[in-house]
Amino acid sequence: MFDTLLAQAGLAEIHQKVLDGERLSYDDGLRLYRTPNLPAVGYLANLVRERMNGHRAYFVRNQHINYTNVCNKSCLFCSFYAPPKDPAGYVLSPEQVQDRVRQYITIPISEIHMVGGVNPKLPYSYYLDVVRAIKEVRPAVSLKAFTMIEIEQIRRVAKKPLDETLMELKEAGVDALPGGGAEVFSDRVHEELFQAKSDSDKWLETARTAHLIGLPSNATMLYGHVEQTDEKVYHFVKLRELQDETNGFLAFIPLSWHPERTAIEHLPGPTGQMDLREIAVARLMLDNFPHIKSFWIMNSPAVTQVALWYGADDMDGSVLEYEITRDPVTDRMQALTRTQMLDMIAEAGREPIERDALYHIIDRPEPMRIVTSDK
Ligand code: SF4
Repeated sequence: MFDTLLAQAGLAEIHQKVLDGERLSYDDGLRLYRTPNLPAVGYLANLVRERMNGHRAYFVRNQHINYTNVCNKSCLFCSFYAPPKDPAGYVLSPEQVQDRVRQYITIPISEIHMVGGVNPKLPYSYYLDVVRAIKEVRPAVSLKAFTMIEIEQIRRVAKKPLDETLMELKEAGVDALPGGGAEVFSDRVHEELFQAKSDSDKWLETARTAHLIGLPSNATMLYGHVEQTDEKVYHFVKLRELQDETNGFLAFIPLSWHPERTAIEHLPGPTGQMDLREIAVARLMLDNFPHIKSFWIMNSPAVTQVALWYGADDMDGSVLEYEITRDPVTDRMQALTRTQMLDMIAEAGREPIERDALYHIIDRPEPMRIVTSDK
């Protein structure tokens, strides 16, 4: 039955490659995007997902900290930043960052995810102090901090070589990089939407250097704005090549763009159909990435439950205090409790595994324990 379905979708050849464990080509990637039969793509992605990760669905109890929203890059898709001198701009001092960490000290958080704008006023010492401040309050937490774009800024103010800067951040307490800032590896999109920010070559060089000094990272792709299919496939191919070289990527995270309050909010933005396809194509193309994450806060908990059958094996986590796409009008805090995450995964028919930022297993909750915890 599935053979017929896949043949009708024009995916018989790709199906055979998936069964044989053969790498998919750039043209295969285009075909996966162009077939209207999304369930067929999802079926193929699920074969790979279950081969690599079984029924496991990873989640993390984590806290997000955005240390500054001041940024001089003016990306047209961004609703988070305030330009320098804008009264809405803020910078958290190391003490304020510690207060944020203490706020949730009773919750056994295992990951802190910290990113911010590219703030030209911050000195190098600030970044080291903030990292040390977090580790002072929560020494055991895995700290995932600074996108590749921020790392470039930190290197600039450090006036040191990239590897030395990364090593000093690591020694201060950074355990991994979240990998944002890549958007889509396309000169055209770069020129159109984020020309003040560095390009894909620089992003890849920063990731390569981080991996080589022992700092693993994630990788992302922002979709649903002006990007085209061939650009997304190219993005996967470039990431896959670097992973072959360094094996430093932990997870790939497709990021569903939110148009609201951006300079291009007239664009319609992604759909649920697109969210699922990005997850599925990523799982199929990125054969050397151990994990594909469905970031529920960007594509909704409902889509994430389905995505666990379309290639995703990770749903991110509690995400306490996420600010990047938060609506200041409704002031809607975005977070899930552990119980909610366990219920989501159990209802989706997968096996919940609590992890830290480096995918060390924290807990494998038994089904009978599901719905008993409330943090
Ligand atoms: S996406 Fe990042 S670099 Fe671009 S404007 Fe927003 S905060 Fe700045």
